[in-house]
Amino acid sequence: MPQDSGRRVIIVGGGASGVLLACHLLRDPAADLRVTLIERRADLGRGIAYGTACREHVLNVRAANMSAFPDEPDHFWRWLVSSGAAADATCSDPFCFVPRRLYGRYIEDLIAPMRGQGERPPPLHVVRGEAVAISDTRSGVAVTLADGSSHVGHVAVLATGHEVAAASGGFHADPWTAPAGAGIATDGTVLILGTGLTMVDYVLSLIDHGHGGRIVAMSRRGLLPQVHRRVEPMRFDAADLPYGTDLVYLLRWFRGIVKWNAERGGDWRAVIDGIRPFTQTIWQNLPLAAKRRFLEHLRAWWDIHRHRMAPDVDVRLKALIATGRLEVVAAKLIAVEPAGSLAHARYRRRGEAVVETLDVAKIVECKGIVTNPQDTTNPLLRCMLEQGLARVDPLRIGIEVAGDCAVVDRSGRTSSRLFAVGPLTRAAFWEIVAVPDIRVQCAELAKRLSAGRVATRSSPGPAALIEP
Ligand SMILES: Cc1cc2nc3c(=O)[nH]c(=O)nc-3n(C[C@H](O)[C@H](O)[C@H](O)COP(=O)(O)OP(=O)(O)OC[C@H]3O[C@@H](n4cnc5c(N)ncnc54)[C@H](O)[C@@H]3O)c2cc1C
Repeated sequence: MPQDSGRRVIIVGGGASGVLLACHLLRDPAADLRVTLIERRADLGRGIAYGTACREHVLNVRAANMSAFPDEPDHFWRWLVSSGAAADATCSDPFCFVPRRLYGRYIEDLIAPMRGQGERPPPLHVVRGEAVAISDTRSGVAVTLADGSSHVGHVAVLATGHEVAAASGGFHADPWTAPAGAGIATDGTVLILGTGLTMVDYVLSLIDHGHGGRIVAMSRRGLLPQVHRRVEPMRFDAADLPYGTDLVYLLRWFRGIVKWNAERGGDWRAVIDGIRPFTQTIWQNLPLAAKRRFLEHLRAWWDIHRHRMAPDVDVRLKALIATGRLEVVAAKLIAVEPAGSLAHARYRRRGEAVVETLDVAKIVECKGIVTNPQDTTNPLLRCMLEQGLARVDPLRIGIEVAGDCAVVDRSGRTSSRLFAVGPLTRAAFWEIVAVPDIRVQCAELAKRLSAGRVATRSSPGPAALIEP
């Protein structure tokens, strides 16, 4: 391992968040940082969002908002044009919604120059492997991988992203396996549980795969995501927003603004997009009980308005519904009983008492991503929770972190060496799953780490990597 003098940051997780953080940390060579990026997958920057090979799976954020750098908002668009990807995706302006796999390529291109161009040592050291344990040492932190190797640095940042629920097998499939891989016969009836964006993706995958059988999408409310429109976000001043109120007041305020705007010919999207820069502060000022009520009663409504479909996808979805190829049902699945090569799916429509039966060949679980870290199967998170290095937030949608992304341990102490970014921090920030928010979080954390505003009791020394 080459010797180096800079402060070393270990990032666990090389999905979009981990790579964005590495880019922000290494943007300014004067900061003299070294980054070790640990990722268990073969590719970087993909994760479940941008690892899809399906061309029909497009970004749900316009290209104009997907730059890696908040201070260079057209960076992604310029990459699309200069790499030729915009032409391939028939994308004529920054409002377009390009295939997600292109975004994975963009992220990978960003990081390529940092992996070394002759200088010794390169600023970025990428390690393929699964992190299983982390410990606070006298000189910094040590991250242990499943192969027994250990990597030490001054600080470590968790960017472990989404917890993907594994399908229970048999008649059940997960949405991250393409229909062919999941063994879905093209003439079989497919029941999709969930009616959000993941369902939409899976329906498009099925159609792409030549599926001619029945497709039924089911969720308790049967709500579909709304569609994007070109709107100018409403301009709000921080002083216009209600902070620290209860949920009823906040909802009334929000509805009032939407109504006021609509009466002047405006669009509700402009209100949601306008308050986006303040959503995290609104969330942080909500009382805990109000946050709980939001998650229980309003989250589904918020999600379909906030996380919208690309216009082309909406057109395709509506055509599939209109021609009967896709049925959307508001119902609750009660039981699944195997019956030979099929399964009887028993369900009850919303507001009905009678139980109906659908004979299905496959059930695809698109109900969302596991968010309670208590249920995590990630060995690193399990280890941290068991050892008390981290604790689950009272809302159970992430681990507890402070406003500067520092991890809070079991006793409530804020770490000076362990940080987290991305979806894992959603309990603290709520609006932190999409790139426009993650890039800001990464830029701010990088600024703090570059400025040395973290404790470094003593240097871990040049032999920063200890082989097994
Ligand atoms: C299907 C889908 C589509 C989306 N589309 C968009 C979109 O269009 N626009 C947008 O802005 N946002 C989108 N998002 C939101 C998405 O959360 C973010 O854009 C971003 O991908 C989050 O990246 P991440 O790195 O935090 O998480 P992930 O993508 O989950 O990546 C985490 C990485 O950490 C690795 N890892 C985890 N644990 C370990 C370990 N112990 N050791 C080593 N490696 C580990 C994983 O292998 C993975 O590569 C989408 C999300 C999903 C699920």
